Amino acid sequence: MKQKALAAIRDKLLEKRKSILQSIEREEGKKIILAKSKIINGDRVDEANMLSEMEVYGRLEEMERKKLQGIDQALERIEEGIYGRCVVCGGEIDERRLLAIPEARMCVFCQTVQEKMRASTGGVHGKSFSQSHSGPNQAKCSCLKK
Ligand SMILES: [Zn+2]
Repeated sequence: MKQKALAAIRDKLLEKRKSILQSIEREEGKKIILAKSKIINGDRVDEANMLSEMEVYGRLEEMERKKLQGIDQALERIEEGIYGRCVVCGGEIDERRLLAIPEARMCVFCQTVQEKMRASTGGVHGKSFSQSHSGPNQAKCSCLKK
């Protein structure tokens, strides 16, 4: 990959990282406000509401944290000089794809396979599990070590 493209992707990742951190902070802030309002009002209805709202914020935050993780990993891969390689097949990921989704870890082909697996009933450990693990990579998959 060209240095120029890589630099642009790095900038994008850093920018995304910043905005995610900000939104996590916002979620945290909302939780604190909720907790405080609970102390003031303190009745049972409020408590139930708060718990479900907290749960929503918690879930949002978890999603943001997952995104953040992906971005951090991408930045690490840039540092290591292995950015742009598919983590599954080792092939090069299309540059246009990386510009659109800088945290992409898989090439289009592997991503499609994964999505199909997830979409099928039972997910990774369902019907498609044995099909997807019949190749030479069988020993490498962590799902089988359980
Ligand atoms: Zn691949």
